[in-house]
Amino acid sequence: MSLSNRFSRILLLLEKNYPEFRGGLANYSSPFQLLIATVLSAQSTDKQVNLITEKLFSHFPDPEAFASSSIIEIERYISKVGLYKNKAKFIFNLSKQLINEYDSIVPTSILELVKLPGVGRKTANVLLNDWFDIHEGIAVDTHVKRLSYRMGLTDNTDPNKIETDLQEIIPSEKWGRLTHLFISHGRAVCKAQKPLCKTCFLNEACPRVGVVEE
Ligand code: SF4
Repeated sequence: MSLSNRFSRILLLLEKNYPEFRGGLANYSSPFQLLIATVLSAQSTDKQVNLITEKLFSHFPDPEAFASSSIIEIERYISKVGLYKNKAKFIFNLSKQLINEYDSIVPTSILELVKLPGVGRKTANVLLNDWFDIHEGIAVDTHVKRLSYRMGLTDNTDPNKIETDLQEIIPSEKWGRLTHLFISHGRAVCKAQKPLCKTCFLNEACPRVGVVEE
């Protein structure tokens, strides 16, 4: 079976088993709020972020609200997520930059998004795929990285190179859903320490590269 045929089979099985393949972030109602929630989710979990975003966005719904506040005040609202001091600075400066350079409108290209403080390719890809339905790239997080290697879809460890490898074998309209499907499967079955290969529904299509099965 060719690599792209094998991946098509994998994707089909993932979609069948995870019909609700949406991202784990909640409580946002605009691209700006999804951008902030995604910045907050770095080095943290979606669950932790969801616990604080309802209150955060009711107090700071838009860039103007953050920019007219202070880093110290933002810190108070986000102190339950990892690296909150850095993130408060990012959010404050990102909001100011959006107002000054983009008329408060979130840009819709990776090139522009990564110019904002705290925004890397992964965050930009999540926003473009999930809110705008624009498929410029694939968000590579720790689950996508691990599963791509185990499934023999890449030999690389650098997220940017993994993204390029995946883009070569996966049609662009599937780039957004791939991240959420891999995250679902990485959490439920293909776990970091003990992948459940014996009972995994991808058993027939997965080469299990570098995996020590339970
Ligand atoms: S067979 Fe094993 S390595 Fe492959 S996807 Fe399933 S759990 Fe992961």
